[in-house]
Amino acid sequence: MAAQEFKALLPEMETDVVVIGSGAGGAVVAKELAEIGYRVVIIEEGRYFTRDDFNLNPVQSTMQMYRQAGQTFALGTPLMLLPLGCTVGGTTTINSGTCLRMPHRVLKRWQIGLGLESIREDEMELLYKAVEEYLFVKKADPETAGPNARLFLEAADKMGLSGGWLPRNAKDCDGFGTCAFGCPSGAKQSMDVSFIPDALAAGATLLSRCSAERIITEQGRAAGVAATPLDRSQGAPASIIVRAKIVVLAAGSIYSPYLLLKQNLCNSSGQVGKNLHIHPCASTIAELEQRLGNPRGIPQSSYVDEFKDDGIMLEGGTMPPAVHAMGIPYSGRRHRDHMNRYPYSGIFGAMISETDSSGSVSVSNLPGFKGSPLIRYQLKGADVEKVKFSVLLMAQIWFKAGAKKVFTPIAPFAEITSPRQLLKLERAKIKASDLDYLTAYHPMGTCRMGSDPAYSVVKDTFETWDLEDLYIVDGSVIPTSLGVNPQLTIMALAMRAAGIIDEKLQS
Ligand SMILES: Cc1cc2nc3c(=O)[nH]c(=O)nc-3n(C[C@H](O)[C@H](O)[C@H](O)COP(=O)(O)OP(=O)(O)OC[C@H]3O[C@@H](n4cnc5c(N)ncnc54)[C@H](O)[C@@H]3O)c2cc1C
Ligand code: SF4
Repeated sequence: MAAQEFKALLPEMETDVVVIGSGAGGAVVAKELAEIGYRVVIIEEGRYFTRDDFNLNPVQSTMQMYRQAGQTFALGTPLMLLPLGCTVGGTTTINSGTCLRMPHRVLKRWQIGLGLESIREDEMELLYKAVEEYLFVKKADPETAGPNARLFLEAADKMGLSGGWLPRNAKDCDGFGTCAFGCPSGAKQSMDVSFIPDALAAGATLLSRCSAERIITEQGRAAGVAATPLDRSQGAPASIIVRAKIVVLAAGSIYSPYLLLKQNLCNSSGQVGKNLHIHPCASTIAELEQRLGNPRGIPQSSYVDEFKDDGIMLEGGTMPPAVHAMGIPYSGRRHRDHMNRYPYSGIFGAMISETDSSGSVSVSNLPGFKGSPLIRYQLKGADVEKVKFSVLLMAQIWFKAGAKKVFTPIAPFAEITSPRQLLKLERAKIKASDLDYLTAYHPMGTCRMGSDPAYSVVKDTFETWDLEDLYIVDGSVIPTSLGVNPQLTIMALAMRAAGIIDEKLQS
């Protein structure tokens, strides 16, 4: 714990607003309200790491900054890795820095299909702009991006596919290639170097290494949080009660519903933990003749969006060798041979916006995991087809770029050695069980926002339908699959929530 994190280390504290979680949602609300002058306490389970801690060792960083050392899975077919950050800054501290606005058609669907007319396009435009300016969002520099991205994008361009450079919240990025393990140069404007320090400067108190256990309720309203300090080396009490006028739950799309379900709170609709969307991702690895110099360069700097309206976005994603090694569908000598060719490997990923698939978060009853969050997710129907098509598309682009071989996550087509083989893949009927190594990075929807208390957990004001003064402000309120990386939308919505909470406190 850094000294400035604890202004008061008392077993009982009183504040205006207590925020659970310091990620994309929590950090923004905390800073906005602290700057207005409210007393704000942020409770964050993870540690506060600084630039000096980001030591370019991906294995060590994963152990320290990811929940369950990066081994969080969604159970289903296929099994999917769903990593989450557990550190000050939340998942933003270990994310890739891509900042995209929500597509117009998605907002229209919220307004027309879900009755969320109050989330107006003109207001969102202003909120997006404010967050983008604050976080120095600009397009990735092609020179810093590195050869992997340039090669892929040039080949896509030759095929007449639309694409470009991704907007990112990285100021003076050096292309260290380790965004997912903490940015060592401080370029990436994740919450730990932006909203959180500004919240602290405005007087907020941060209790890091402190786990929120329970939302305190009194007479039908939220009245505070009971928490447990996880590091008592500096004399922290065994438990802390933070009494507050407003409680903001921003523990992310897995832990916000989990906290509510454990307490059986706010679930009159039965929707808490349901409606989980995750943007399943497939990745391809190409063996090339030329040396690409990975992982140097920006890991995720370019996109191909030709099929975005079909729910398919290709976004680049290189990984350091230790992490790359986990995505190779071999073991033994074949694995070693492939890893020896790592400098000649091209890597690109695809993200699917779901239409048929969804999942849930519940409190596990499984032996050995009793009481832990249980994540289930089943890939289905049209979404399996989308994964297949995205793999086919990436393989075509790699062959155009000169690849000799492409590794895919589709088991019967794990290694494709010529574009002709892709014709077979095109004709093949692929099932979810044929998919081997899918991952996902964008959990959303498990406390969804809506206009009908029978189908949603929070109102359009972010306040829960069931409990006054409890606001949920994180990815879990996003009611549908978004189709683009969600952090910018979560932050823009969090700014909107801060304005609403301010009005409530004034009244
Ligand atoms: C590897 C990776 C790369 C990604 N890249 C991008 C990208 O480039 N662009 C993009 O838009 N999105 C990206 N994302 C996703 C993005 O980072 C998340 O969608 C976003 O951070 C979610 O914000 P949130 O506020 O919902 O939750 P989080 O940012 O996850 O914050 C939740 C916080 O709550 C804390 N918490 C949970 N339970 C408790 C408790 N009981 N007590 C106290 N604290 C608690 C957690 O420790 C965590 O710090 C990526 C994700 C990953 C894993
Ligand atoms: S590429 Fe490197 S310098 Fe740039 S944001 Fe990522 S970690 Fe930071």
